[in-house]
Amino acid sequence: MPQYTAPLRDMNFVLHELLQVERQYRELPAFAETDRDIMDSILDLAVRFSENELAPLNRSGDEEGCVFRNGEVTTPKGFKEAYAKYVEMELGALSEPVEYGGHGLPHSLAVVRSEMVWSANRSWGMFPCVSHGVIRILVTHGSQDQAHVYVPKLVSGEWTASMCLTESHAGSDLGLIRSRAEANADGSYSITGNKIFISSGEHDYGGNIIHLVLARLPDAPKGSKGISMFVVPKFLLDVGGGMGERNTVSCGSIEHKMGLKGSATCVMNFDAAKGFLIGEPNKGLGYMFILMNSARLGTALQGVAGMESSYQGALSYAKDRLAMRSASGVKVPEREADPIIVHPAVRSMLLTQKAFAEGGRALVYWLASLEDIVEASADVEQRKAADSLMGLMTPIAKAFLTEMGLEVANHGIQVYGGHGFVREWGMEQILRDARVATLYEGTTQIQALDLLGRKVLGNQGADLKHFTGTVLQFCNAHADDAAMQEFVTPLVELVTEWDRLTQSIGARATGDPDEIGAAAVDYLYFAGYVTLAWFWAKMAKAAQEKLVAGTMEPGFYQAKIQTAQFYFQKILPRTKTHSAVIDSGAVVLMQIGNI
Ligand SMILES: Cc1cc2nc3c(=O)[nH]c(=O)nc-3n(C[C@H](O)[C@H](O)[C@H](O)COP(=O)(O)OP(=O)(O)OC[C@H]3O[C@@H](n4cnc5c(N)ncnc54)[C@H](O)[C@@H]3O)c2cc1C
Repeated sequence: MPQYTAPLRDMNFVLHELLQVERQYRELPAFAETDRDIMDSILDLAVRFSENELAPLNRSGDEEGCVFRNGEVTTPKGFKEAYAKYVEMELGALSEPVEYGGHGLPHSLAVVRSEMVWSANRSWGMFPCVSHGVIRILVTHGSQDQAHVYVPKLVSGEWTASMCLTESHAGSDLGLIRSRAEANADGSYSITGNKIFISSGEHDYGGNIIHLVLARLPDAPKGSKGISMFVVPKFLLDVGGGMGERNTVSCGSIEHKMGLKGSATCVMNFDAAKGFLIGEPNKGLGYMFILMNSARLGTALQGVAGMESSYQGALSYAKDRLAMRSASGVKVPEREADPIIVHPAVRSMLLTQKAFAEGGRALVYWLASLEDIVEASADVEQRKAADSLMGLMTPIAKAFLTEMGLEVANHGIQVYGGHGFVREWGMEQILRDARVATLYEGTTQIQALDLLGRKVLGNQGADLKHFTGTVLQFCNAHADDAAMQEFVTPLVELVTEWDRLTQSIGARATGDPDEIGAAAVDYLYFAGYVTLAWFWAKMAKAAQEKLVAGTMEPGFYQAKIQTAQFYFQKILPRTKTHSAVIDSGAVVLMQIGNI
C-alpha cells in the first residue's frame, strides 16, 4: 500500500520558480502580504494534515463506504473527526473572503492544499469541496442577508454545502430539469422535486447543510433560460441565525458506486421544502456557471492528484520489484534479478505518469494564479484578459487532466503487474476513484463542445489567438537559445497546426453543424497536449537557468529537462493522430444507419 508523501519540492518549484507567485502577489494589493514564510507555514500544516490525518483513512474509507439507514448517512470511521480537525486548523478558510471570516489568501496557495487533500483521500475531499463555489455564488449573487447568514458558517466549515442540479432524466442538459418552485406569501418559495447524484447531500458531520438547488418557477420559459437558483438549508434558521426547524428536504438513498465509496452520493427529495431565491428569477444557470468553473478547476486538480498518488506508488514498487536482467547489462549484481525500473517499457510508464502529473500541476496552479488576478487586480483590462484565458483553459484542464488521470492510474496498476489488480496494494482504488472525474462537473464530451463550440468558434477564435500568441511570444523569446530548440521548434509547428485545425473545422461546420461535435473531443485532446507542451518547455527553461546559475540540486533540475524531452519525444506525437482524426470529418460517424 503506497504511503502518500506530499511532493512539496515540486509544488514549490511550480509556485516559486515557474510561476514566481510572490512577484505576482506583490502586484496585487489584497495578497501583498503573502510572503514565502506564510506560504511555507500553511503548506506545512497541509502536509501534516493530509499525510497524517487523511491518508491513513483512504483505504479504510474505501472498504467501509458510507452507510444509509433511516434517512441518515454514516460516513466511514474517522472521516467526521478528520473534518473537525480540518475546521479547527482553518484549512478550509484559506482563500475565503476576510469579511466573512476567511483568510483572504491567494487561490494559488489554496490550490496546493487542495491537491494534497485530493491525493491523500479523494472521497474525504468531496465533503468540504463544494463550499468554496457556494460561497462565491452567495457573495456574488445572493442578497446581503443571505451572504450574512450563510457565508460565515460555510467559511468556518461549521456548515457544509451541496449543489443540487442533476435529476434522473437531466444531467448534461439541465434545461430539462423539472423541480418546481412556487412562491409563498412570506417571500420564500416551496421547492418540490427529486435530485440525484448529489455529493455530500447528507452526512454525519453535524451542522447545517446548505443546498443550492436549481428549479423552475411556474411561469418560467422552457429550457435553460427558465431555471432559477434557490438556497435550501437542511435546517431553517432561527431568529439568531442558528439551526432551527428541520426543512422538508431529505436524503432518500445513496448510490453504490465503483469508486469514491467514502463520499455520500445522495438522492435528495424536496417536498415543498422552504427555499430562498438567489438573485433574479430565471438566471440560475448563469449563476451556477460561477460555481461550475471553480468546481471544474477543482476536478482538473483531482486528475493531477490521482496521477501523483499513482506515480508515487508505481515508482516505489518499480525500484523494489525484481524481474529479469537489464538488456544493456546487469544493473544490480548483488540481487538475483534487476528491479523492473531498469526496463525501458516500465520506464515509459513511469515517465508518462511523471510527465502528466508534473505538467498537470503546472497547468492547474497557473490557472489558480489567473484566478488571483481575476479576483484581486486593480487593472480592469488585466482582469478581463485573465478571465477570458481561464474560460478558454478550464474545459481543457478539466477534461484533459481527468482523462490523462485514467491513463496514469492504469499505468500504476500495470507497473504492479498482477498485484496492481489486487485490492491490498491500493493501485486499483486510485483508478476506481479517478473514474468519475471525466463524468461529473460536465463530461469530457460536454467540455469539448464548450471549448470548440463556445470558447473558440463562438468568439471567432479571439481568446485562442490570445493564448497561442502568448505561446509564440515564449517561443520567439527563446528562438536563438540552442538548448531550447528541441522545445520551441515543435511548439511553433503545433500552434500553427492548432490554427489550421480551428479554421478547417469552422469552415466545414458552416455546411454541416455535426462537424463540431465530430471534431470536439479530438480537438480538446490536441489542445491539452499542446498546452502541456508549453508548460514543459517553460519548466525546462526554468531548470536550465538554475543549472547555468549553479545549484545544490542539479539532479532535480536535470530531471525536469529530461522529463520535458520525454514529453516532447514520446507523448507529443499523439497530436498527429488527433489532427488526422479531426481532418477525417463527420461523415463516417453519421452515415451509418445501423449502428
Ligand atoms: C459520483 C458522482 C457525484 C456527482 N455529484 C453531483 C453533485 O454534487 N451535484 C449534481 O448536481 N450532480 C452530480 N453528479 C452528476 C453529474 O454531474 C452527471 O452525472 C453528469 O453531468 C452527466 O450527466 P448524466 O449522468 O445525466 O449523463 P447524460 O447527460 O445522460 O450523458 C450521457 C452520455 O451522453 C453524452 N452526451 C450528452 N449530450 C451530449 C452532446 N450534446 N454531445 C456529446 N455527448 C453528449 C455524455 O457525455 C455522456 O457520455 C454526480 C455524479 C456522480 C457519478
